[in-house]
Amino acid sequence: MGEKLLEGKRGVVFGVANSMSLAWGITERIVEAGGKVALTYLNDALEKRVRPLADSIGAELLLPCDVGRDLEIEAVFAALERSWGKIDFVVHSVAFAHRDDLRRPFSQTGRAGFALAMDISVYSLIAISRCAAPLMSEGGAILTLSYLGARRAVPGYNVMGVAKAALESAVRYLAAELGEKGIRVNALSSGPVKTLAASAVANFQRKLRAMDGLAPLRRTVSQEEVGKAALYLLSDLSSGVTGEVHFVDAGFNVVVPA
Ligand code: NAD
Repeated sequence: MGEKLLEGKRGVVFGVANSMSLAWGITERIVEAGGKVALTYLNDALEKRVRPLADSIGAELLLPCDVGRDLEIEAVFAALERSWGKIDFVVHSVAFAHRDDLRRPFSQTGRAGFALAMDISVYSLIAISRCAAPLMSEGGAILTLSYLGARRAVPGYNVMGVAKAALESAVRYLAAELGEKGIRVNALSSGPVKTLAASAVANFQRKLRAMDGLAPLRRTVSQEEVGKAALYLLSDLSSGVTGEVHFVDAGFNVVVPA
């Protein structure tokens, strides 16, 4: 698969928590395609899970990064500059909202919880892009992960839906600004996949099963399929594509439920 689409390319993936993470599915496809990946992890507890994964792909760099902290983001890109000089791609596969804010009625979303969800899930893409752009001296691709809840009111997705709507808008503004540098910015809108983050959404398993029957492909997508779609958006195959939200959801977004 992938005829070495990313041979000679290097970049960083934010958002691997464990082997179920969409970021890990994306990392595996990048490595298969000949790309070199630096990984980040949120905290010491997750480092224990991420380090063996990083070792399994021979990652040259494994760095701590809480994307709520500008200094930690800056430190990641300073390390990338020291080691590699330039980079070609960034994957932002990070989101957070308080579980309580996903369980309560939407109008009960707290002010602090709203700000936190926007900070970690949206502002972080802006901060990361700001640091990445100077290292993308030969152009590059920045990719984030979204969900249909950005465009429709999906029960239980709540504040995260508002955050994803803002994220998709940020993708357009970043694409507009960075296009002249040959930097493309896109979002991949994935169908539901069982991960740590997804377990925070109420009745996630039920939603997964409902998807099976309603999606045109009569199933959900796999972590591997999300990775393959990411490979398209990160590689030269999508050289003319920027500011887009690309769906990989077995076609669910095009169906009107009966
Ligand atoms: P995941 O839990 O494996 O990944 C979420 C990641 O965010 C974790 O690695 C976590 O450590 C990281 N994170 C949270 N707060 C952070 C912080 N302050 N600093 C740095 N990292 C932080 O779950 P996932 O489903 O792979 O989620 C990845 C992305 O995909 C998210 O943006 C999510 O909204 C999106 N997405 C997921 C699905 C799904 O069904 N799983 C569907 C559509 C979109």
